[in-house]
Order: sequence, then structure tokens, then C-alpha cells
Amino acid sequence: MKPPMPPAVKDYPRIVTPLPGPRARAIVARDAAWTSPSYAREYPLVVERGSGSMVQDVDGNRFLDFMAGIAVASTGHAHPRVVAAVQESAARFLHICGSDFYYESMAAVCERLASLAPGTGAKRVFLTNSGTEAVEGAIKIARNATRRAGLIAFHGAFHGRTYGAMSLTSSKSRQHAGFGPLLPEVYHVPYGYCYRCAFGKTYPSCELYCVSSIESDLFARQLDPSDVAAIFVEPVQGEGGYIVPPPGYLAALRALCDAHGILLVFDEIQCGIGRTGTMFAAEQVGVVPDILLTAKGLASGLPLGAIIASESVMRWGTGAHGSTFGGNPVACAAALATLDIVQHELLPLVPARGARMMAGVRRLAERYPAIGDVRGLGLMIGLELVTDRASRTPNPDAVRTIIDAAFQRGLLLLGCGKSTLRLAPPLVVDDADIDTGLAILDECLKATA
Ligand SMILES: *Cc1c(COP(=O)(O)O)cnc(C)c1O
Repeated sequence: MKPPMPPAVKDYPRIVTPLPGPRARAIVARDAAWTSPSYAREYPLVVERGSGSMVQDVDGNRFLDFMAGIAVASTGHAHPRVVAAVQESAARFLHICGSDFYYESMAAVCERLASLAPGTGAKRVFLTNSGTEAVEGAIKIARNATRRAGLIAFHGAFHGRTYGAMSLTSSKSRQHAGFGPLLPEVYHVPYGYCYRCAFGKTYPSCELYCVSSIESDLFARQLDPSDVAAIFVEPVQGEGGYIVPPPGYLAALRALCDAHGILLVFDEIQCGIGRTGTMFAAEQVGVVPDILLTAKGLASGLPLGAIIASESVMRWGTGAHGSTFGGNPVACAAALATLDIVQHELLPLVPARGARMMAGVRRLAERYPAIGDVRGLGLMIGLELVTDRASRTPNPDAVRTIIDAAFQRGLLLLGCGKSTLRLAPPLVVDDADIDTGLAILDECLKATA
């Protein structure tokens, strides 16, 4: 018998300068002089390179990444096969405009996404440069296909920053402030957020009142369902706080839509591409949307989004929509490599790695009463922090303090919602990374307690 493999010695996290280091400080100062004040930088991380779940800054400090550039670096930083695909594609041609001409990688990405998306019916795919652009396109498709104007989205939703998507977004009011008027005929209702049920009810005795109230409240008083084009929903709410809705929730939304000829749009821009343990989160609840949106993790960091719709819904006419850059060949090459790696190599590992991370987080929650709620699917895990468990008062200061303390110790985190820490590492994160990150989080919680 072979002796067991020695544990791989990792050269990260490794902090070698005060943070930010001198080179980082110089770049932050230069950036501050010239860039838009709207950028809400989290902490002074100035990246020089990355590999797998390691990010190195310009001063040689190495960090363990538990945020993947907002759940984008799905295959890890600079995965060699993604980089090779990008290089090969870039060396041949950079652009020809997929809205007007053809190339194989564009057809291949659309074919691949249509076959990966849940549901057996025929599908068609439109490629975009970003998530928000996928949302915009979906609004147009929904209104065009139904000839209805109404759009329903959820409190806490994040769908993007352009006008249509921003109008559906209801995550932080500063994202709307001063930008009105927004798109008309958009209605927001509470999400299936059981830790803070908007109706003060408890699952399962609530019988999914948050869904049935759309009928008994919104449809009865304010908005006739025959005027509604689509319901936009994140199967796991991302920016709103990594919230997993209760069992039956998405199926109930599907039934509500079917009863009224309303289209169901799943925004899987954050939770898709393997993050929750299946290629798309929708697969885990067996609900098939009419339109599915993806972006973030799709091309490992190159800009690419997609609208995947059933053929009967994506029936806008020739010339009705297009994009100069959408489906850029280099981004498509990155997506094909990403989908290969995620589907065949990483996806089988996500459930076990997610379970290890979740078990570790639950052990922390046993020891730290600041953790009010723990939730998630796969490698998409949220820890909602509270001032005390009885009142469930959100504790955004603790989130800020822990994120900063983690950065100082070499762990990259991000918050979401009002007071939630999100754990969204690259899908290549291994057991040693998970244990290291959780140990650092433990130290930060201890220091903040
Ligand atoms: C990030 C995000 C978007 C917007 O994507 P961008 O690429 O930033 O425009 C939309 N929906 C969800 C769920 C997201 O997480």
C-alpha cells in the first residue's frame, strides 16, 4: 500500500506587509484621484495575480479568496485551461460582431447553455456582456411575448444597474436615489425570507403565504394578473443576503404564473454555473422557468451573460434586439472551457465541499451568538449577524468589522443584505482552503465578540 499523501503545503494566506502595502497604497491613491466616486470599494485589495483560490496583491501578500470577485471566478483565478482557451481564441480574432455574423464558439455556447438549462422543451439563447444586460433583454422578451407591461420582483432583489434591471432591483435604496423615474409597472412583494418573514409567519404553518398573498393582496387590490408579463426571481437571493427560500416556494411561484399566463424568469446570474451544487439552482427544486438568466460565473471572469428562453417565449423578430460585443468570441471561448471544467470536474465536488463549509459554519454558530442565521446551498453560504438572537436585530457593524479583520489576516470576504457575511469561494476551493478560511473566520468572530 502506498503511504498516504502528505498534506499539500500551501503558500497562502501569507501577509508580508502592513495592509495596504506601499505599492497598494500608491495605486489606491491614484485610483481615488481619477475613478468615479460611485465605486463602493470594500477594502484596499490591489490585485496583481491569482491562481485557484489564491489572490496575490501588488506587495506580494497572498490571500485566500472566499468571494471569487462576487462569485465570478467559478473555476478559480486564471485556470490554465480557461487562460489557454482565451489565448488561442484571442490570437485568431478578437471581434466580428455576433449579432451580424457567425463564428463557431457563439453557436457552441448557445447550444451548450440550451442543453444545460432545465426543461426538455426547445430553447434559444441570446448572449450579453453582463448580468444587467441579460435582465434588460428578458424584460423586453417578456413584454414582447405577452404584450403585457406588468413586472413583479421581490424585496431584497438585485437584478442590476441599468434602468430596467435597476427598476426590478430592491436591494438598497441608495441604488435608486436620484435616478427616478424608474421603469413603470414594476411591483415589489416580499421574498421567501423565513428568518425575517414580512408577514410574521413561520414555515411550514404559513402555507407559503408570501406567495399566496400575491394573489390575495396584489392581484386582488392593485394589479390585475392579466396585465402581468413576468415575475423575476432569484432562486437563491444573492445581494439581498444569500437567502434560500423555503421548500415549495419556487414551485408555488410557477403555479401562480401558470394560472395567469405570466412568465417566470429565474435570475441565476449569481447562483448559477455550479455554485449551489447543480449547474443551475432551479434543478434542485425541479422547477422550469420560461426564461433563465446567467452571467457572473459563466466565463470565469470574462464578460459574458446569457438569456436562455423557451423557443415559444423568445419570439421577438429579426432585428428586435442585438449587441455589438455580446457573445464576444474570446468570452465564448472562456465560457466553453469554464462549462467543461465546471460540469465535468467541479460540479461533482461542490456538494461535499459545500457540506464541509456548512458544517464548519454551523459549528461556529454554536459558539458565537452573533451568528443569527446560517443558510445556503453548495458553495453559496450566508451567515446573518445579529446584535442578539432573541431580537434578531441586524448587526451591519459586526459584518464590516469581520470583513476588515479577515482581510488583515489574509481572507477575502464580502457582505450582502443588511448584515450577512457571504461565503462564495471559487468552486476549486479544496478541503484545506475551507478549513483555513473557517479558522480565520473563527479568529475574527472571537476578536469581534
Ligand atoms: C450581479 C447580479 C446582476 C447584475 O450583473 P452585472 O453583470 O453586474 O450587470 C443581476 N442579477 C443578479 C442576481 C446578480 O447577482
